[in-house]
Amino acid sequence: MLIDTHCHLDMKPFDNDRHSVIQRAIDAGIEALITVSYDYNSTAKVLKLSENNSFIYAAIGIHPHEAKSVNSSTYTSLKKMCKNKHVLAVGETGLDFHYDNSPRETQKEVFKRHIELSQEIDLPLIIHSREADNDTLRILESLGADKGVFHCFSGNEDIAKAAISMGFYISFAGTVTFKKAVKQREVVKTIPDDYLLIETDAPYLSPVPFRGRRNEPSYIIHTAKLIAQTRDVSIEDIYRITTLNAKKLFNISQIPQNGKITYKIRDSLYINLTNRCTNECIFCVRFQKDFVKGHNLRLSHEPTIKEIVKEIDNPLDYKEIVFCGYGEPLLRLDTIKEVSQWIKQNGGSVRINTNGQGNIINKRNILPELSGVVDSISISLDAHNEETYNNICHPALNHAYTGVIDFIKLSTAHIPDVTVTVVDESRVDIVECKKIAKKLGVNFRLRKLDVVG
Ligand code: SF4
Ligand SMILES: [Zn+2]
Repeated sequence: MLIDTHCHLDMKPFDNDRHSVIQRAIDAGIEALITVSYDYNSTAKVLKLSENNSFIYAAIGIHPHEAKSVNSSTYTSLKKMCKNKHVLAVGETGLDFHYDNSPRETQKEVFKRHIELSQEIDLPLIIHSREADNDTLRILESLGADKGVFHCFSGNEDIAKAAISMGFYISFAGTVTFKKAVKQREVVKTIPDDYLLIETDAPYLSPVPFRGRRNEPSYIIHTAKLIAQTRDVSIEDIYRITTLNAKKLFNISQIPQNGKITYKIRDSLYINLTNRCTNECIFCVRFQKDFVKGHNLRLSHEPTIKEIVKEIDNPLDYKEIVFCGYGEPLLRLDTIKEVSQWIKQNGGSVRINTNGQGNIINKRNILPELSGVVDSISISLDAHNEETYNNICHPALNHAYTGVIDFIKLSTAHIPDVTVTVVDESRVDIVECKKIAKKLGVNFRLRKLDVVG
């Protein structure tokens, strides 16, 4: 299921087959779509569409091209319409200095009024910004705006970062699939999962392989596919991530309330054993949010062996099964041992992602117990010395860093594939960490700060 956060279903190109277009959107698995008004006439049309179709929502506003047509009574009408329960956003509004169809000063004035309206009625903004990104950001900042989306984003990484730091989401349309959109695809890679949205802007901007033809919401899957490839995740990951974000931003239906026991990312299955940990790392995602790649991981209870096995069902369905989650899995050693054994008996592959404190936690060398049932292990080294480790990871247990180093050393005798990971944090000497890994005879992987899963 996915959400097209921006299309113009009221437009003329859909007049002959709007019904079929909507049906194809449903058939393609689109859970909801937002049809966005662009001039005064279209506001009534998008409202009607949203009232007649339960999965269609409306955004009310005047496109910067049409800013010159706005007068004081327009705002009164817009405000009234925005109170309709089918309206989820104010827009599209913003600045377009590429076409300059309305005078720039008028565009700015109308944009400001839209921002004020969105704040007054507490709806997010759908922002159109073309060759005007700095002015757009300045105006948003001057009014303290912090909720909305930069639709059909075409700016660079710095603009995206600035928008995100103010709280705005970044939405990509079919243009990212164009052969020449190399720079745009580089920007696609940099957007954090939590700020990524997807749209068609239909009838415009058809993705490849429909480029040049009329666009429609069902074509969104081609954009999703390209974004998935670019970000090295599966298309299902992109569906889940962007759907959750759209639901959060536009307040569309419920977001998942309960933490998942198992969750899929790419073609691996992760097992969320516990939310407890012996560290409190400064970068730990547990302290920032409940969701990773669109999955809620805040457990309401620690899963039993029976529950885990039931959810895995067939280990052969996955490239590997990873004990991980929102805490330290080796706090539940017995469960890991039993479930791993079952996975191996059923032909699956097992990995553990750990902070490397398993031996101090369990007060013995547990590695022989994992021998033969665990294929690979990723151990967070996270620092080049004890002092830095203590400053970054705040371990609850004594001599944790020494314990981690010992654990890495002992792992190689019992687990075929051992990797140490380090988060790219400014206080950590990465070169030194690589040397430690080399000396211990294990693989090394650098993890990006704030990128999980
Ligand atoms: S070891 Fe992992 S789960 Fe524990 S606090 Fe650090 S980042 Fe979070
Ligand atoms: Zn649009």
